[in-house]
Amino acid sequence: MRTDQGVRMAARCVGCGGEAVRSVGQFLYRGRELRWDAEQSCPGCDTSLCEHFGPGPTPRDVREALLTVHGPARLRLTGLLTDPVAALRLLREGTGAPLRQVRELLDELRDFALSGTAVEMAWWRVRLGERGIATEVTDGFGRAYRYVGPPELSALVDSGDSGGPGGPGSPVGRRVRTAAEFAAWAEAEEHAEPSTFVVDLAGALRLAPRRSEHVVCAGGELVLSAGEIGFRRSAGGGWEVRTVSNQSTGYCPDLTSWPAVAAALDRLGLPHPGGFTEELVFRRCPACAQCGIVREGHHVCVFCDADLPARWNVDVPATA
Ligand SMILES: [Zn+2]
Ligand SMILES: [Zn+2]
Repeated sequence: MRTDQGVRMAARCVGCGGEAVRSVGQFLYRGRELRWDAEQSCPGCDTSLCEHFGPGPTPRDVREALLTVHGPARLRLTGLLTDPVAALRLLREGTGAPLRQVRELLDELRDFALSGTAVEMAWWRVRLGERGIATEVTDGFGRAYRYVGPPELSALVDSGDSGGPGGPGSPVGRRVRTAAEFAAWAEAEEHAEPSTFVVDLAGALRLAPRRSEHVVCAGGELVLSAGEIGFRRSAGGGWEVRTVSNQSTGYCPDLTSWPAVAAALDRLGLPHPGGFTEELVFRRCPACAQCGIVREGHHVCVFCDADLPARWNVDVPATA
């Protein structure tokens, strides 16, 4: 498992005002201490600057850069949790969060998985291992998407405490992690219209009534995919997916986010069409910076007629 991870992004040089490269990352110091670093270097004037190197909570923009480029990792128990009190104490020390929130985190670890950056999950794995709690870390769930819509909508999110490794936040969307949780949600809903959905970093589906903002459904957090989804009764009396799209102008997810949707639906035991039934191709115009949808394969900006790139480019803050 990776115990260091970094990304590079463009920054403004403090020396000459030109374009500098900002490198940020997280790593495990001496195998058990979670640290982060950030430094800038400018090819134009040779200015280099160490912004940070050491312990302390990783800033939100650094975590988001790591998650958007590398995607999340997940931490799962590999055996029964025989000493929940020790786990609770450790989670409390590690997050500094209020007890209610730490209990939710413990439930999440016991029933599902914690999620965060690969280095954060490696850190939890080491710390839990020291208390005799065996876990495994997996990654490779695809990139995460940041909210890229109007700022006034993200202000609707009652964010509560959403930072930190595996922090559960306070999302408005109903989180369904199991077939039973999905059935309880589905029985209480009308299914005349599709619902708003996101797939959160832990891989769980979150559902909200249609026309709910995706960023609110996600509690302001990063997602693995987002769109609209419709369900119907299957012939066998259960439920199945009728329609599913990546229609979210808040996150503008790429079509390559489908596997994250499929994995969330498979976990719920829901038959699905095997791909988005409506595919939206989001691109940001390199000339006017507007984000739009490519219609019928015409890669041309509707605002200024400039050519649009072949690859998804809506939010490219950083590279590996
Ligand atoms: Zn410079
Ligand atoms: Zn344009």
